Parts: sequence; structure tokens; C-alpha cells
Amino acid sequence: MEEPNDIAGDDPWWAIAALSPVSLCIVGLDGSVVMSNAAFAAMVGRGADELRGMHFRDLTHADDVGRGQELFDEALRGERTTYRTTTRLLDADGHVVWGDISVALVRGAGGDPQYFIGQVLDVTRDRADRAKLTETVREGVREGARERTRSDVMLDSVDVGMVLLDSDGRYERINRQQQVILEIAYPEDHLGRAGQCGEVYAADGVTALTSEQQPCSRAARGEEFEDQRIWVGATPGDRRALAASARSVRDDRGRRDGAALSFTDVTDLFESLRAREVFVASVSHELRTPLTVVLGHLELLLDQDELPEEVSRELRVVARSAVRLRALVADLLDPATTMAGDRTRGEIALDCVSTDLTGLVVEVVESALPGALAAHVVLAARTHGTTRVVLDPHRVRQVVENLVGNAVKYTDSGGRVDVVLDLRDHEAVLSVADTGIGIEAGDVAQLFTPFFRADPARRRISPGLGLGLGIARSIVLAHGGRLEVHSEPGRGSTFVATLPVGGPA
Ligand code: ADP
Repeated sequence: MEEPNDIAGDDPWWAIAALSPVSLCIVGLDGSVVMSNAAFAAMVGRGADELRGMHFRDLTHADDVGRGQELFDEALRGERTTYRTTTRLLDADGHVVWGDISVALVRGAGGDPQYFIGQVLDVTRDRADRAKLTETVREGVREGARERTRSDVMLDSVDVGMVLLDSDGRYERINRQQQVILEIAYPEDHLGRAGQCGEVYAADGVTALTSEQQPCSRAARGEEFEDQRIWVGATPGDRRALAASARSVRDDRGRRDGAALSFTDVTDLFESLRAREVFVASVSHELRTPLTVVLGHLELLLDQDELPEEVSRELRVVARSAVRLRALVADLLDPATTMAGDRTRGEIALDCVSTDLTGLVVEVVESALPGALAAHVVLAARTHGTTRVVLDPHRVRQVVENLVGNAVKYTDSGGRVDVVLDLRDHEAVLSVADTGIGIEAGDVAQLFTPFFRADPARRRISPGLGLGLGIARSIVLAHGGRLEVHSEPGRGSTFVATLPVGGPA
């Protein structure tokens, strides 16, 4: 490479230009290089002497020559005095160098064109970076689209309706099944926003849901829930029962960014439960009348003094079984039985009064003692003073009887059952702990489902319909309390019923 100091002269501006890190060159009116500085020579990989006399066309990529010449000619014709363009220059080896070129036409005192001064910035690296960035963004978009297609196919293949809401409650995405549901629920067309009222009803199938009660509105407000039972559709044959669940969607900083909902079709389950309820209710009703007659006559017989001892003993056995049968029938007909399977169906009617819960628990335990004794199970109760609680004594007695009865029933000979009543933070806490057969973790969630009995319970000779716990939980919930279970198979179970001392809110 030759001495760079080609732009030179007496004028100090020329000296500065020669040393400038910015590429500069002077081009004559015929388009050939008159002078260039060291930076320009280095940029195009040629010596200053070599450059002198070269036409700018020879330094420009063939595809950009046309545009360069056009601008040059326009300046010569006086249509512009300066111009700026990004052009591909070629270095001595034919490699492309991207130049951001600013050109000014210098005129003499009389206004006639003298020469062009060009200033060139090497933007090759910027272009490469930008190209890389563009490619990365494009690849990201392609990957996003691929991902979306894959997840669309996956979501469309399930028969659960799915909705993704944005943070304003607008439908961002729905799957194929949800489209079907929307057509049934909103025959007039859905506007793609949470809260639209349509053919959407509560679990009773009759009460139309208000805008705020719609699963999507609740989810848009940030509620997370499971199993909201609804009916959609107006025409009987097309109606579907759905179980809706919702979860919030959060961004990477944990802020709420919408919600995801799923709608599972539970029509068949609903219909079969209903059919079973109707069947059970009518059969139990038919059983109750003859049973009442049997029990009434047994009482009359037992009241007779002259009965031989042996006969009255046998009659008492018959009476005990008849009483037990009556209790089972009562369970079947209990409205709480249906509520046990479907908690959205409303509350059980309660008749609450201030009650001595301690006395109630002690009474139940005392009446269970003979059974425990016969089963060789130790039954002990621990209570603290008098615990007055506002509750429905008949209903809560049912709960305590069920928990204590089960604990004795599902505990083998030699085991024990401890009943403890405590008062904590305005709550009465009744715990019934046994050392019995316990419950498998997988069965715990189903304990409250009507007619569910775990395998070991079914194998035992102990009688039961699998209704008691469901009824017990419905009663506790109706009181504003909760019923929890901790259990370990083979080691025992603890049922804890918590009731607010002040009664249901
Ligand atoms: P039932 O006792 O009439 O079968 P429940 O509704 O009272 O009905 O209980 C449902 C099921 O829960 C029982 O069949 C049994 O499998 C299980 N279970 C309830 N209590 C206990 C307990 N203390 N220990 C072990 N299993 C229990």
C-alpha cells in the first residue's frame, strides 16, 4: 500500500482530510477519482495511486452502478447538490464492502460544477449484524408458527373445550371442541369476549347464568376454580352438561396475563347420576312404608309382658336390624345424598340453635361403646368443658355418628379410636382418629362420592352403602365448616370436622 497522504496541499483542511478516519474522496465531473484519503484506500484495499483515475463505476457492484450513475447525473444536471445512498463497493479482491455514501457537488464562484466530494462510512458490519438479526427473528417466527401448528393439532385432537383469555378477557385462542360448545351456547354468534350471556345455565339446568357468573368472567377476574357445573344449549336434544375449570396464566415476572379454561362434557355422567337418583329415591320410598309397618308391629309385640324371654330376645334382634334398615333407607332418601355428589346444587336446610356440642359428642360416643366393646376396639373421648356452638343438632349428630361409627367399623379387634373435641380460634374442631385399616391415597378423593366404598371396606363383612361420608361432608359444608381426612393404609385414619362456633355465616 502506498503513502496514504494523497489528499494534500497547502490548505489545512486537506491535511485534516488526509488524516481523517472517515473515508473521503474527490471525484471529477467525468466520474473518476481525483484524490482519496488513506481511510478510503484502506476500505477498498487499493493504493491511492491505483485509485486515482479509476471510474467510480469500477469500484461499484454491478447491481448498484445504475442507481449511483443516476444520482451523479441528476447532480450534474443541477437537480440536486447533495445525495446520500447505501452502495456496495468492491475491494481489490472483488469482495463487497457496504458503504454509506454522502456526496456533495462543489461549484465554483460562477456556479459551474467543479468536482464531487464523497464521504464513505463502512457499514458492512452493521449490514451483517442486521441481516443476522433479521434471520434470527425470521427463524423465531418460523419456529413459533411451527410450534403453534403443533399445539393447535394437539389441542384440536382432544374432546375437552379449551379457551385462552388475554388479560382483558378477550378470547385469544380456542380449540375445535370449544368452537362446537360455543355454537350450542351462543347460537346467535359469540363475540370473542368473556361474560357474554347466552344459552348458559347453572347446574340445575334452569337458572340462566348472569354475565358475572359465567366461567370465563370468573376466570377473567382472576378466580381459579374447578368443576363449575353448567348446562349449555336451548334445545333439549342438543343440551350439554359441562364441568368448567380455570387457571390464571402468568408472565415470566409472575404477573397475571390472562387465564386458561377447560370445559369437560359431563352430560352422560349427569344423566346417569340423575337416573340413579330417581331410581334410588323411588325404591327407597317404596321400602320405607312396609318398614314402618314392620317396626310398629315389632314395638307392639315387644310391649307385651307375657312374651317368653327367648321370643322377645329374637324379636329385639329383628327390631335392631329393622332399625338399621330404616337408617339406610333414610340415608338413601336424604337430600344431602344428592348434594354429596354435586356440591353446586345448593345448601341443605338447617335448623340451627345454640347447642352443647360437648354433650352431643359424649352422647354419641356413649351409644357407640357397646358396639366398640363387642368389636374389641377401645373407644375413648376427650373434651374440654362445654363447647356451645350454633348448629343443627340433628344434622351434626348424624356427622359425629358417621365418623365414630366408621372409625369403629374399619378398625380391627385390638385397635383404638380416639375422639377429641377442641376449641380453636372460634372454631370447634372434632377429630376422630383410629388405628384401623386406613385408606389408600388414590381413594381419599372419592370418599365423599355417593356409593363409593374402598376395596378393603367392601371386602369386610361390615355393612354400608357408601353414603354416610358424603352426607357428613354436605352437612359440615352447609354449616360453613370443612371435613378433612388424613390416612395411611394399614395404620389408621383421622377425620377432622371443623365448625364455626357462631354457626353458618
Ligand atoms: P360406608 O361406611 O357406609 O361404606 P361411608 O360414606 O361412611 O360409607 O364411607 C365411605 C367409605 O370410606 C367406606 O366404605 C370406607 O371405604 C371408607 N372409610 C370411611 N371411614 C373410614 C375409616 N375410618 N377407616 C377406613 N376407611 C374408611
